[in-house]
Amino acid sequence: MNKLTYKLQQFMMGRNGTDALSKASMALAMVFYVLSILTRSNLLYLITIFGMGYVFFRIFSKNISKRYTENQGYLRMVSGVRNRWIQRKQYKFFRCRQCHKTIRVPRKKGKIEVTCPICGKKKITRT
Ligand SMILES: [Zn+2]
Repeated sequence: MNKLTYKLQQFMMGRNGTDALSKASMALAMVFYVLSILTRSNLLYLITIFGMGYVFFRIFSKNISKRYTENQGYLRMVSGVRNRWIQRKQYKFFRCRQCHKTIRVPRKKGKIEVTCPICGKKKITRT
């Protein structure tokens, strides 16, 4: 038992292992797997196979810095979506038409003129 654990540790040395992105990808693959069973869809099953392939590729990958960057990008995206969801009643979010940056303005202020803090583009919006 200990020898096996040791061998597994040796094998995983210098590899990425599981991270938040692999866990999320695995959960998503499981969703597709259940859907493929329920709908008897070969396409959904194929997506499951590719999804699991991607998960194993990430776990066993030796390019740790690249996988780390991908994981950080995923975590940034998730926290952005979560923050918007939590703040959705106090703030209105929209994208600047010129520089595509997300702008946040307080709600219930009526019609206001918003100036983009990045590029200075003005926009009149209803909050
Ligand atoms: Zn802008």
